[in-house]
Amino acid sequence: MQILKHVMDDVIKRNPNEPEFHQAVEEVLLSLEPVAAKHPEWVKDKIFDKIVEPERQIIFRVPWIDDKGEEHINRGFRVQFNSAIGPYKGGLRFHPSVNIGIVKFLGFEQIFKNSLTGLPIGGGKGGSDFDPKGKSDGEIKRFCQSFMLELNRHIGENTDVPAGDIGVGGREIGYLYGMYKKINNEFTGVLTGKGLGWGGSLARKEATGYGLCYFMNEALKAKGKSFKGANVVISGSGNVAIYANQKATELGAKVVAMSDSNGYIYDSNGINLSTIRKIKEVERKRISEYVKYHPNATYTEGFRGIWNVKCDVALPCATQNEIDENSAKTLIANGCYAVGEGANMPSTMDAVNLFINNKIIFGPAKAANAGGVATSALEMAQNSMRYSWTFEEVDSKLQEIMKNIYEKCSSTASEYGFEDNLVIGANIAGFIKVAEAMYAQGI
Ligand code: GLU
Repeated sequence: MQILKHVMDDVIKRNPNEPEFHQAVEEVLLSLEPVAAKHPEWVKDKIFDKIVEPERQIIFRVPWIDDKGEEHINRGFRVQFNSAIGPYKGGLRFHPSVNIGIVKFLGFEQIFKNSLTGLPIGGGKGGSDFDPKGKSDGEIKRFCQSFMLELNRHIGENTDVPAGDIGVGGREIGYLYGMYKKINNEFTGVLTGKGLGWGGSLARKEATGYGLCYFMNEALKAKGKSFKGANVVISGSGNVAIYANQKATELGAKVVAMSDSNGYIYDSNGINLSTIRKIKEVERKRISEYVKYHPNATYTEGFRGIWNVKCDVALPCATQNEIDENSAKTLIANGCYAVGEGANMPSTMDAVNLFINNKIIFGPAKAANAGGVATSALEMAQNSMRYSWTFEEVDSKLQEIMKNIYEKCSSTASEYGFEDNLVIGANIAGFIKVAEAMYAQGI
């Protein structure tokens, strides 16, 4: 890094002990060097220095009472990172690993991802270090209510529109929305991922996983390949993984492995998705249960082991940094020719470099998983109109959006002399729209 080195140095100095945030920023700044060289006016106007500093960071106390009557204190976050092109938009993550650095990395990624969708949404992210694992429905409800009691004053349909992420799905959005409505006496599209009978959009639930497959379908097609007959490995077993499995299978692939944070299952017949949905969405149990229903399948402890499974296409849909350098080496050695990121930043920087250098078809998260937030923006549009589109209408818009994102990433990469490098393409294309808006709007 040359022109932008001081920006990176400042980020490290100002945000100590936030390795994931540093990683996300470094990857983007490395891609933006040629943009900085081409746009001295943006360097002079400190657009690069500004974009790495969140517009606002909110940290708050979330007290809640468990089923035994004992009080617990968690920490809540909302980082309103960039509103140059629209209201802040991004999910809420409930997971014990959540801290301000994680929320900043996710919020930073969200700026470029949201820009790539072509829709008017800024970047934000939030969450809590609350661990939903093993909590009763009543505990989840009380936690969500307490969380919204504080969050509500910082959000709004034209200000900041949160949604789900890890640990926050339809149930949690319901409790959060109910509390927002109670406090503000207003039925508005302040959250997305809502239930279908109360402002939600058809196809939102499916959108991230479907969108990932639509994006990868384009990327594969460009190289004369397809999902048809491909062996696919999908890490995770949450919303993204489940619908990526469904769409990949529909497109002719066989998904042979899936995982959760404890371990992975392998089924040479192809994973039975209804069993996974029953275990994860209804019983809310561990993926190891799968072998009870399908004795031919195997379960192995340790979530990273899934990358040892031989596959043509890998779709990491679990969490950040789940593919390290070793996992990437194994995937490549086993003949994997395409990787599409359904999770946010699932590959370490070393892993990404290996994929690019080995000419693996690589769909980076901020482009490949943008279908979820894009459909959230479609939910916002429907809420504003007080109208709803059919599943087919939303799904066809999603397909169009993912195709456009692929084309934008691919053509931008070529324009800057990095043919086929969708990482650079996504970072530059996502950045330019936001930078132009920031420059036009002044300080
Ligand atoms: N959490 C999702 C993401 O990482 C969706 C955010 C949204 O719909 O606002 O993009």
